Amino acid sequence: MIVAKFGGTSVATLDSAQQIKKIVKAKRPTFVVVSAIGKSLAHTIKITDILFKIYYLMTDGEDYVPLLKSVIERYDNLAKELNIKLDFNFEYAQILQKIRKCQATKEYIVSRGEFLSAKLFAKFLNAEFLDAKDYIIFNSKNGNVNLLLSSRRLKTLNKNKVYVIGGFYGATLKGEIKTFSRGGSDITGAVIAKALNCEIYENYTDVNGVYNKNPRLFSHAQNLPILSYKTAYKMADAGNEVVHKSALGMLENSQTMLVVKNTMGNGYGTVVVPTNYVFNDLYICKNSAKVFLFYRLEDKELAWLKSSGELKQVIKHADIFYVIFEQLYIDEKVLQQKPNYCASFDCVKFMFFSNIKIERKNAKKLNIIAKKLKKCVVLAEFLAKENNFVILAKEENYNKVLNVINKYLQN
Ligand code: ASP
Repeated sequence: MIVAKFGGTSVATLDSAQQIKKIVKAKRPTFVVVSAIGKSLAHTIKITDILFKIYYLMTDGEDYVPLLKSVIERYDNLAKELNIKLDFNFEYAQILQKIRKCQATKEYIVSRGEFLSAKLFAKFLNAEFLDAKDYIIFNSKNGNVNLLLSSRRLKTLNKNKVYVIGGFYGATLKGEIKTFSRGGSDITGAVIAKALNCEIYENYTDVNGVYNKNPRLFSHAQNLPILSYKTAYKMADAGNEVVHKSALGMLENSQTMLVVKNTMGNGYGTVVVPTNYVFNDLYICKNSAKVFLFYRLEDKELAWLKSSGELKQVIKHADIFYVIFEQLYIDEKVLQQKPNYCASFDCVKFMFFSNIKIERKNAKKLNIIAKKLKKCVVLAEFLAKENNFVILAKEENYNKVLNVINKYLQN
């Protein structure tokens, strides 16, 4: 199951909305999480910032109506641009009524951007609208999200459908609207991914993934192809704003692979995986009790490898190719020390090969992983001399190993 979250700039313009449509058509995520409309060339203020202002005007007894009208107008205009028959008169009246009855809390008001975005995009994408208040449940006592209750509600939905839900907010069981902290639509995506054990959480934003430095400030900032949740969390804690810290924390022990991508670009983005073992080119991704190993390739390399004829299988996920090689390099000495393996030369050989720069000191960690793979493979080992990590699986387990990999990485 896939959750796709689109940030404020991604839902702000006709171009980006069309791009969202393309992505949703191609990936068919079960959940599309949307933020409130963010900044664009035409508008320099985010809808959520305006909503905060409305709340402060309201509590100061000042006139908030023109600003509220401007919010509704922005949604009406986008609906027109997207060529959909939808206006937000009803929602406008609803909000006004709530304010006039003194029932509009701060969290209710500032969450209306996400609510309106979800309505708009559900219609635009021909998908079903979900009001997050009915699915993202908060504890009334401590104001934290209640994963168990949210997951119960979310599990009642049909995973073959496409649902559009506003990020950033939910409600207590009594229906009182609650919000996460700023940037919290990322957390909504994480709650859904965690609650439903989603394989993939695609987080679409306006940068090409996570960088080692802020790319808006440093021209030499490098895009990081893969990160562990732990590292990504530490980076967020230190100020990296690409994905909300709490979303990363929530997924650290999950089975979800998070892909951070640019809505408008076709770069690889950054893959965040629940593991500590991330090396230069060889990625080890723990999912459930199993461990997957995959090697990421650029298109150019793929063409070269295809001609080398050693390729066993190519798996494509999110524009990234992961390859399994047929050829196997095993240090003779290793085989001599393991007579059992020599006897099983009829087994299918997988080689996850790269010009890996695994340092010897990491070999220990790989051995730990190899132990975890014990049940379905004969040998999964770092062979320092050849600088390869090798998996040897018996013929009968070939499909099992392959299926597991395909299941989680295939588009
Ligand atoms: N709209 C909210 C904010 O601006 C939440 C989000 O965008 O994720 O903070």
